[in-house]
This record gives sequence, C-alpha cells and structure tokens, in this order.
Amino acid sequence: MYRDMTCGQPRQSDSGKTITLSGWVHRRRDHGGLTFIDLRDFSGLMQVVFNEDSAPEAHALAGDLRSEWVIQVKGTVQERRVGADNPDLPTGTVEIIASELTVLNRSETPPFEVEDDLNVADETRLRYRFMDLRRPRMYRNMKLRHDVIQAARNYMVGEDFLEIETPILLKSTPEGARDYVVPSRVHPGSFYALPQSPQQLKQLLMVSGMDRYFQFAHCFRDEDLRADRQPEHTQIDFEMSFVEQEDVLQILEGLYTAMVRETRPDLEVPTPFPRMTYAEAIERYGSDKPDVRFGMEVSRLTDIVADSGFGVFESVAAAGGAVRAIVAPGCADYTRRQTDELIEFVKSSGAQGLIPMHIAAEADSLEEVTLEDIRSPIRNHVSLETLKEMARTTDAEPGDLMLIIAGPEQVVNVAISNLRVEMGRRLGLADPGVFNFLFVVDFPLFEWDDDRDGWAAMHHVFSSPRPQDVGMLDSDPGAVLGQLYDLVLNGVELGSGSIRIVDRAIQEKVFELIGHSPEQVEERFGHLLRAFQYGAPPHGGMGLGLDRIVMLLAGEDNIREVIAFPKTQAAVDPLFEAPGAITDEQLEELSIRVVESGG
Ligand code: ASP
Repeated sequence: MYRDMTCGQPRQSDSGKTITLSGWVHRRRDHGGLTFIDLRDFSGLMQVVFNEDSAPEAHALAGDLRSEWVIQVKGTVQERRVGADNPDLPTGTVEIIASELTVLNRSETPPFEVEDDLNVADETRLRYRFMDLRRPRMYRNMKLRHDVIQAARNYMVGEDFLEIETPILLKSTPEGARDYVVPSRVHPGSFYALPQSPQQLKQLLMVSGMDRYFQFAHCFRDEDLRADRQPEHTQIDFEMSFVEQEDVLQILEGLYTAMVRETRPDLEVPTPFPRMTYAEAIERYGSDKPDVRFGMEVSRLTDIVADSGFGVFESVAAAGGAVRAIVAPGCADYTRRQTDELIEFVKSSGAQGLIPMHIAAEADSLEEVTLEDIRSPIRNHVSLETLKEMARTTDAEPGDLMLIIAGPEQVVNVAISNLRVEMGRRLGLADPGVFNFLFVVDFPLFEWDDDRDGWAAMHHVFSSPRPQDVGMLDSDPGAVLGQLYDLVLNGVELGSGSIRIVDRAIQEKVFELIGHSPEQVEERFGHLLRAFQYGAPPHGGMGLGLDRIVMLLAGEDNIREVIAFPKTQAAVDPLFEAPGAITDEQLEELSIRVVESGG
C-alpha cells in the first residue's frame, strides 16, 4: 500500500496517528539535524520532518532528495509548535515526523518549478505539460472542468436527454471553417473529414426518433487560431424534437444555471436570462454579444452631424455610414496620452480614428457649457449648438469624455463595441462576481458575403427562417430573420443554435439563395435530405463551447488553461511534436505522395 492518506488531508485531529503518504518532493530545507520536505500531491502540501536523532537512516536518505522525486514516507502526525504553523496551508497546523523513507522514483532537474506563479514561455509549459499540470492551479482547473461536465450531464440526463456518441471519421460537415481530413487506406484517394460539429448527425438522430440527444462533442476546425480558439474544441451539443425556440432557451437557462450553481455558488446569476433581439443589441451596444453588466450604451449621431460642417462626418453620412459615440463618465480630464492610447486601440479594431470630446466639469449643467468648456479636435468645426446636441443625445454631462467614431456601419460597430468593453475594463464597470447570461435572438438568416458577392448563411444552412418571414425569402432575403439564437455571457458568445428547416421547399430555397448548385447540395447534404423524406420531426438545438465556459468559471483568460493538452497558437503540440511526418511505408499504404512546397 503506497498511502493511507493524501498529502492535503491530515489535520490536528489526526495527531498521534501513524500514516503513510506518497507524493512529489516539492521543496527541501536542511537545518542541521533536521531536514524538512514539503511533500506534494494533487490534494495539497504536507510538511515532513526527518530527525537525525530519532530516524538516522531516513534522515540520511532525505539529504539526497531533489525536487520532483517521487517518495513514500511513513511517520506520525504531530501538531506543529506554536509559531511554526503555516496559516496559508490547510495542513499548516500539523507535520509528519518521518520514521521511514522510500524513494519510488527520481526526477531530472525540472525545467521550471512547480509553482502557481510561473513565468515561463507557453511553448515550454506545453513541452513539459505533465509538469505544468502538477501545479495546483492546473489541478483546480481540471477538477473544475470535470465538475462542470458532471453538472451538465446530470442536468441533461434529468431532462431526459440521451448521451449518444457520433463518429469522428466521417464526411465534411461544414460549419464555415476548413476541414481536417484523414486519408483512407482501404479506399485510395478517398478521405474522411473530421466533424466541425455533429450537426447533421444530431439532426439524423431526431429523424431517428431519439427525441433528445446530447454529447460532449469534439469538433475540429482548421482555422487560423485566435487567442481563444483551438484546432479541436469540445462542445456541449444537443438537439431536441418537437420543440419551439422557447423550449430550447428554457433548457439552456436550466443547464447554465445548474453548471454555475454546482461549481461556483459564489457567483450571482440573474434569472430569467433576458432576451434581446440582434437588432437591439447592435443598436444599443454595437455588438451581437454585448457585456450587459454595465451601461455605457452606444449612441447614434449620424443624423445630428450629417450637416454639421465637419467634413469627415458629412462625407461618412453621405456615404451611408455611421457616426456613433459612447460616454466615459468622469473622464473629461483624460490626458492627450490617454486619448492617444484609445485612438491606437480603435485603430487596432479597424477604425480610421477616434474623436474625443472632453466636456469640462466646471459647467453646472450641459446647457451652461460654453465653447471654452469643450476640448476636442472638432471644436472649431462644429457649432456649439451641434456639440451640445451631440452631448445631449449621448447623455453626456460636464466632466464626461465623449468618444466618437465615424465610418462604414460595420467598422464603426466593431470598433465602438470593442472600445466600450475596453473603457468598461479601465473604469472597472463590469462586476467580476456576476454572470450575466443573455439570449440574443432574431438574428438575420443571411449575411452578405463580399468575397463571394452573394448571400451566406449567418449560422448554417439548416437554420429555419421565422415562419412570418418565409414570404420574404424571394423578395428581400436580407430582411429575413431566423429562428436563430446565441447564448452570451459577460460579452462572450458561448454558442449558437437554431430551430431547423424541415420543409423541403424552404430548404431548397435557402440552398438556392446561398448559391449551392444541386450537385453541391447532393454531395454535401444528400444523405440528410433523403432522411428528411422519411418523416422529420420539428426539431432544434444548440452547440456550446465547453472550454470557454470552463475558462470563465475558472477566471482564466485563455482556453488553453482549461484544456489538458492544448495546442499552441501555431496549432502545434510541442510535447508530442505534432503534427509530424509519417513514414514512407505509411504514405505508400495510403497512396499519398508528398510534394515539397514550391515543388
Ligand atoms: N452546429 C452548430 C455549431 O457548431 C450548433 C447548432 O446549430 O446546434 O455552431
């Protein structure tokens, strides 16, 4: 038997017991006749004392111990003497007086210390991920992930969902990214594609009468990686039969409140989750995933400044663009350096620039503000009346800083919504102790794709239009809203879902609108459409990023911190050195010839 307690377990009430512990040497300190070891395992740290007088053999051996050696210690639990206790450790009031020591395994000198406070390159952490994961913080993250999964599973099972696995080796299931493909040995020249999501499979399960399905699904998307993306990620994926949108949202609300309650009971989760239409989100926040923990809503000034005499505003308005603004309360005294920083910030979000307008705190009210009270590059180009009208529209007061962005509507919305989040962060407006979930509903079914010069599905091709909008599929596709919803948490999109199309004529119309030829439809979706001819129930569902919600619950800012073996930004696993070459025999078996790039 290697242990009868774990390192984090012993307490004062165990004093006098003889116990055996196993773990890693965290730290060693020699004090003459006494050697102290902090022994570590997943559960915590335990101080072990080797005394030259009472256990000379063990003491001698302890002198050889090095960081990360694996040892077994037998000894007696003893209360620490007054002043020697460590209030930072749950085990800090006791220590083990060792009688026996066994070295179970040695370790090379570790590449970094196993400490939560770590300052090494991500690449190194991932190359030695097995050491990195020994850090208490990483254990906590893995445990949290486990708990979130258990809470989700319990909730879904309680709501009569069946957990069903779907294949990884299959055919392209487009979700808007590039596929990862796997060559077939048995069928030379043919390839499987790894699922970007189990979308079509879960719809087939509904046609199969499974009624309610869920799965923690691995999804593979070959896209250029951003900070919170990985080539493979896990989705909480579900689908339900005989439901309307509201039924799905009810399940979502239950699922996410259960997940937070079970894992972070300290967080406040306001319910019911509010619903906001896509149009309202864009108008009020410039974003379809607004952080609604704070106000600072985005105003529209286009009409007010269209004839203001200021060239930039006038030309933007004439070109059908937008002039939008937020107010940073109490920030009128921002320095040039501070506003220059904000200008750089909005430029990195794609805007041409940013116009600050400081309204001095001296005036008693907006009505009394004079030109002298206003500091802004537009001060001398726009009349005082218009400046005041702009301030009134944005609800700015003396003492506030208005931040104005002009340009094409979409560019302005992206930049101003990012700026709003940034100002919220700078001013500490978003309460980290609150999880504000939000349903964004009524997304447009299509978005215009400039590259292809045609309509593209906003979500995916199976999402259904709202029944009242079906008539507009022919006349005005851009105005058609979908039974399409997102779950958003504190400004982060957690996932999307929809009620699916089950009407053949509507499905064909959608394919036609987004420019899929009948051949393409047959190749990509023929199997599903054929199944739909055998009685498809009304159904809908959702796919939600598991990594992201765990990241937010863990208070981390990168999903890599909550994935056991993630890949780098360059889609590489430095531990396995994946991706890697395969042997010539393997290539031959697969009938594949690798052409050197440029060759
Ligand atoms: N398959 C979709 C996605 O990955 C989610 C869904 O519609 O259920 O975004």
